[in-house]
Amino acid sequence: MFNLILFGPPGSGKGTQSEKIIAKYNLLHLSTGDLLRAQISAGTPLGLEAKSIMEKGQLVPDNVVIGMINDVMAYNKDAQGFLFDGFPRTVAQAEALDQLLKENGEKVNLMISLKVDEEELVKRLLNRGLTSGRPDDRNEEVVRYRIKEYNNKTTAVADYYKQFGKVDEIVGIGSIEEIFDNIGKSIESHQ
Ligand code: AMP
Repeated sequence: MFNLILFGPPGSGKGTQSEKIIAKYNLLHLSTGDLLRAQISAGTPLGLEAKSIMEKGQLVPDNVVIGMINDVMAYNKDAQGFLFDGFPRTVAQAEALDQLLKENGEKVNLMISLKVDEEELVKRLLNRGLTSGRPDDRNEEVVRYRIKEYNNKTTAVADYYKQFGKVDEIVGIGSIEEIFDNIGKSIESHQ
């Protein structure tokens, strides 16, 4: 198995690059944001709980997100590997992920961290909000709050994996192909 975490702030291009990575490297895409939005669309109790939190740009509780990841991984035991997108977002989630993988004799192989400065992120997210239909992309205050949550709670996840030498930083500004090329080089040097 090859397990990859695509890491970076909201708007750094994780979704766009994920599509290209899963197609080329045959990984199963696991985006907690997409899973949560599917729960909201289906009107489940979990979706109802998550909706108001997500609209404020806050993080959904760890146990909710870890439970979802656990379920998807359990259903896909024969996957060639997972691409985690938007997860883990806290150190508690990272520890839970490591534990889940360890129970199956697996591990996180690599974290690719996309670097994009804050003003560019705000510009991209508000622009995406014009077409994405995502309420959390439409309001500048919410967009900035999401970046603040990232700075306060999520950057520590990169430090957590850095202690194991698993993090590769890649500039997330440039053409989609250029960034994908650099991601590919990183993946291939860790396979
Ligand atoms: P995303 O699609 O990754 O930008 O996530 C959208 C929103 O879903 C976030 O702002 C959070 O409210 C929630 N969310 C997604 N993934 C997580 C996670 N791993 N932990 C907590 N909240 C999450």
